[in-house]
Amino acid sequence: MQVKELFLEYVGYPTMSDEAAEACPSTEKQWELAKRLYRDLRALGLEVYCDAHGYVYGSLAANTAIPAPTIGLIAHMDTSDACADAPIRAREVLYDGTDVVLCEEDGTCLTERAYPGLAKYRGKHLIVTDGRTLLGADDKAGCAEIVCALEALIASGAPHGAVKVAFTPDEEIGRGADLFDVAGFGAEFAYTVDGGALGGIEYENFNAAGAEIVISGRSIHPGDAKDRMVNAAYLACEINARLPREQIPARTSGYEGFFHLTDMNGACEHAEMRYIIRDHDRARFEEKKRVLRETVDAVNAEWRDVYGADACVLSVSDSYYNMKEIFEDKMYIVERAEQAMRACGIEPRRMPIRGGTDGARLSFEGLPCPNLSTGGENYHSRFEYACVEDMEAMVDVLVRILCVQE
Ligand SMILES: [Zn+2]
Repeated sequence: MQVKELFLEYVGYPTMSDEAAEACPSTEKQWELAKRLYRDLRALGLEVYCDAHGYVYGSLAANTAIPAPTIGLIAHMDTSDACADAPIRAREVLYDGTDVVLCEEDGTCLTERAYPGLAKYRGKHLIVTDGRTLLGADDKAGCAEIVCALEALIASGAPHGAVKVAFTPDEEIGRGADLFDVAGFGAEFAYTVDGGALGGIEYENFNAAGAEIVISGRSIHPGDAKDRMVNAAYLACEINARLPREQIPARTSGYEGFFHLTDMNGACEHAEMRYIIRDHDRARFEEKKRVLRETVDAVNAEWRDVYGADACVLSVSDSYYNMKEIFEDKMYIVERAEQAMRACGIEPRRMPIRGGTDGARLSFEGLPCPNLSTGGENYHSRFEYACVEDMEAMVDVLVRILCVQE
């Protein structure tokens, strides 16, 4: 089957995940796509297993005695809740550089003015929505490319080692790696096929921590407040104002880390603030945590006489780490993908992820797992699109990765 046709079928399954739900999968509707993927892998002759949580695992035996690594390919079934997931009315357009009207009624247009990255798709075919839902190329493009690559690999008869495939639920709510059976999967390394524009290879993500500051104040009539009032909301503002002004998400990109104030509320008696702290570099990540601690300590010191104790209590916990360190002696995994891309006429681009991935977590659990492009863009948005030619190219790249390399 052509990847475009399969992709269009997969996006017909609404699979939005739900952070508020405790079950896995978090939404019943993800089961429909899980069953479909199970059937599609079975039809290709793979050994397939679906666990009680909707993880679908497939296994294809090696067809050669030539020693070859057991390689895994992984994609997620769910879609983001940032945008409606149904009804998805996908359609194909030949992009010629003019504005793509997604929805005439709402005046929703996909334009190079808003999305300069579109320019590189002139002359190519894009799958877009009607401007009222996301498309779901994140990550059904990855699902479709993996299934098509297996089909093409089997049909080609080319020598390959054992291949493992997994489709996971609930990636968008950060739980895709939670119940992943790394040992049962049995791959030496794997690739998540969950990136953006063609050619991207990601194996560096943020180091991440969450911080919470709980501030206790003491209220008193402002007329009698001298040397007695401790205004918790004021202390909260004071802490934030002392953090480095340029190190916030709105002023950073590439490898620059940040402090992000995600939430705060406060009054005189009580205030709370929450931050996320991010940096690719482990030393700078530790430094940021130190800066926050010292800032809180300094504010505590200035108010201790009045309050009689530390008014601000900081707690910091690490969320995840940069998988780059896992690849320091395993760059052959990244290079294998790069060679496959070059063999397919694609110039690979190594890019830092300004976030985390399930692959990062799996990497720390013993399954090194860089992330590869899918050929889609504008994820989590009504303006999401997938390029047909680039999805086809990714199928070729995946086949190439799996084949025994001379
Ligand atoms: Zn994704």
